[in-house]
Amino acid sequence: MNYFRQAIATMQGYTPGEQPKPGTPIIKLNTNENPYPPSPKAIEVLRNLNDEWLRRYPDPYARDFGNAVSEALKVPNDWIIVANGSDDLLNILIRACAEGKRKVVYPMPSYVLYRTLASLQPAETVEVPYPQDYRLPIDELVAANGAVTLIATPNSPSGHLVPLDDLRELASRVSGVLAIDEAYVDFADYSALSLVREFDNVIILRTLSKGYALAGLRLGFGIANPEIISGLFKVKDSYNVDAVAILVGAAAMYDQEYKNVCAEKVKRSRTKLATDLSQIGFKVRDSQGNFLLVTPPDNQAAAIYQALKQQNILVRYFNLPGLDDKLRITVGTDEQNQKLLQAIDLS
Ligand SMILES: *Cc1c(COP(=O)(O)O)cnc(C)c1O
Repeated sequence: MNYFRQAIATMQGYTPGEQPKPGTPIIKLNTNENPYPPSPKAIEVLRNLNDEWLRRYPDPYARDFGNAVSEALKVPNDWIIVANGSDDLLNILIRACAEGKRKVVYPMPSYVLYRTLASLQPAETVEVPYPQDYRLPIDELVAANGAVTLIATPNSPSGHLVPLDDLRELASRVSGVLAIDEAYVDFADYSALSLVREFDNVIILRTLSKGYALAGLRLGFGIANPEIISGLFKVKDSYNVDAVAILVGAAAMYDQEYKNVCAEKVKRSRTKLATDLSQIGFKVRDSQGNFLLVTPPDNQAAAIYQALKQQNILVRYFNLPGLDDKLRITVGTDEQNQKLLQAIDLS
């Protein structure tokens, strides 16, 4: 039966990381969640939610949350769009800008969802390979002529941070929108946020899933000039962000201090875990995210992934070209990381 459009019938669906039920006795280092709980102020808002917020439709502009972003990041309210995770925002952006020969362009390896969203549209994609040293392949990205060019920085799974000058050059040379996906910015040395004021075609994508420890809430946002923002508003569902997310997310966003304290702890643990893994023979890439991309000795990535899983420790194994000898390991608490190291020793 031909129930589906050709694009859907022929595409590969996105394979999410394994998500066992909360409470399962597992050390979960596979999808880059924060090992620390969300802000206590956010939890307090959640506990005190009035039922009236559930009875009524949420604010289509998510203003309570937008105000928090505006204050925390010093950007005007009409430069902000809020979404159901940054995945929702990526979907909105690609639906709004790309179709057929209006292409989606991105370097590889990067976030696998970019390809999925382009295939859904469908829009042609150009995947430009990163060189070994992960310098941004600017000329090739420009030549690919995307309606949307997507750069994750810090990138997943490599963990590298793209230099601002490279992003600046790319923004000035691409004809379409340059979307800078800063899902991991809270663990990085710098952000590209200032580029939205320098370039009309730049949008910055952020999420509360990683730095703010709110992956289950589903909340993300974009920052760009009002012309881009108002175009994206035409595409988004009116009620894409629920009432709970707006209020809980706002409290988390106002509590920058708590987020920063947790991020500092993660960064210290990242350094320690990188050292410890190197000492047992792993090759470890420098990372500006809350994860490490590592190459175990003797081509053991797949075997170690399985052996860890047997011991209730989940890490990410990508069965993909160029990544099949590697593991992406989320930085946990020092205690979790220690258990990981012991489990690797035994496996
Ligand atoms: C985790 C992640 C996202 C998705 O974040 P959500 O807000 O949870 O949808 C987007 N981009 C990259 C690169 C990510 O790693």
